[in-house]
Amino acid sequence: MKLLEEKILKEGIVLAGDILKVDGFINHQIDIPLMEALGRDMAEHFQGRGITKVMTIESSGIAPAVFTAKYLEVPLVVLKKQASKNLKTKVWQTEVVSYTKDISYDLTLARDYLTDGDHVLIVDDFLANGEAATGAVRLIRKAHATLAGVGVLIEKCFQPGREKLESQGIHVYAQARIRGLENGEIHF
Ligand code: 5GP
Repeated sequence: MKLLEEKILKEGIVLAGDILKVDGFINHQIDIPLMEALGRDMAEHFQGRGITKVMTIESSGIAPAVFTAKYLEVPLVVLKKQASKNLKTKVWQTEVVSYTKDISYDLTLARDYLTDGDHVLIVDDFLANGEAATGAVRLIRKAHATLAGVGVLIEKCFQPGREKLESQGIHVYAQARIRGLENGEIHF
């Protein structure tokens, strides 16, 4: 999407280790009209696939996922990175390695919020190595629900996330595809 690419070029900052900092409009401060436009585009892309739930991972995916769910007119399920003490119900869990923080966490979903009749769209901010998305896919499989696809705002095409997902037959949609982040420059 041109709108997102322009925003990335204007405000994105390239950090060491091939990290793109987008704190000014996605990760720390949130540009609400932009998130709404992205959520609407995401919903339009996946319309007609029988989606019953949007799923995201706390916390960066929540803003675009809220608007995706709004336009698809379905609930949004937020996967937790830590099992809350308040979660008294049974949960599904799977271990995920965080790309940016170099730590692992237990991705957690209360069993109440996903059933075997659900068709789920995963929405996240970035697709890099595909660890977060494949963790979410494992939870969907544990619940015997159906995966409708994975939608991300920004794909880093030089990392293997898309390949990992597509090799399992998963449909991937990225709104901005970054080819490289050499010498502090962003190439789509
Ligand atoms: P993956 O699991 O695909 O390796 O990485 C996806 C997750 O790591 C995303 O949910 C995102 O939060 C984070 N991430 C990966 N690469 C970047 C990046 O370049 N910039 C930022 N801000 N987050 C990233």
